[in-house]
Amino acid sequence: MNDKTSLSGTVALVTGAAGGIGRATVAALARSGATVVASDIAANTELADAALYVQLDVTDEAAWQDVIAQIDREFGRLDILVNNAGISVTNSIASTSLAEFRRCMAINVDSIFLGTRSAQSLLAKSGADRQGGSSIINLSSVGGLRGAPFMSTYCASKGAVKLYSKSAALEFALLKLPIRVNSVHPGGIETNMMDTIFARYVEEGLFPDLDAARATVSAGHAMSRMGKPEEIAEGIVYLASPAASFMTGSELVIDGGMTSR
Ligand code: NAP
Repeated sequence: MNDKTSLSGTVALVTGAAGGIGRATVAALARSGATVVASDIAANTELADAALYVQLDVTDEAAWQDVIAQIDREFGRLDILVNNAGISVTNSIASTSLAEFRRCMAINVDSIFLGTRSAQSLLAKSGADRQGGSSIINLSSVGGLRGAPFMSTYCASKGAVKLYSKSAALEFALLKLPIRVNSVHPGGIETNMMDTIFARYVEEGLFPDLDAARATVSAGHAMSRMGKPEEIAEGIVYLASPAASFMTGSELVIDGGMTSR
């Protein structure tokens, strides 16, 4: 690890840390030297690589304030915020309820706003004494770059994440705050989320069985396979590090070539 990729001395907060990409991100950030605060909606989760686990429902405004205040008290800084928590909705437009649509927007989009606003001041303070400043990394998706049938709710939420990230990046740069903001756009990654999506495809009759769904999604990537959570985590570490010091408002696409077609 050279100086530019070391996260030594930094403190990171990861949401949705009990899931596939979250867990891999906690491990990768810790390996790079960050002190990692892991959070998820569950009260308790075993995460060996985390320095601290806190319960955080990312739709809960007061909980965000409490968690950031706790990090300030215990560590005195926050350098990296990974807004990773998210859910998928796989449904036809005709059978999507307003409650389901709003729940997805709350978890996937309200979370980005609440996290950014709650952490802004501590990130700005911490970024002032660090090469490359502080870094917010928001998990969007290839679904935030292009549409997908039966995924309209999810794609709308991830498109919002992309433009929220760009706007925050521009605002912080204009205000001369040392906070970079970027979005990450994974293709299909082997986590519980994709298993849920496959099951819904089969329920909707789009594929005869799970194997057929998996084979078609894998073939949708130029590299003919889905990605692994660790392959997303490495991109997140890069964006968090001083090596990405001139990157803000960018879309880091990690999709095995899916959107290059
Ligand atoms: P995952 O394995 O399902 O993990 C998501 C985690 O977020 C779970 O632990 C989940 O808890 C948690 N969560 C749900 N609602 C929450 C809330 N209100 N507050 C806090 N945590 C909450 O999903 P993943 O695949 O790792 O996805 C991580 C991120 O990457 C998501 O934003 C997703 O949209 C994005 N992404 C994933 C893929 C993919 O192919 N997997 C592709 C593109 C983008 P529960 O399990 O208890 O609900």
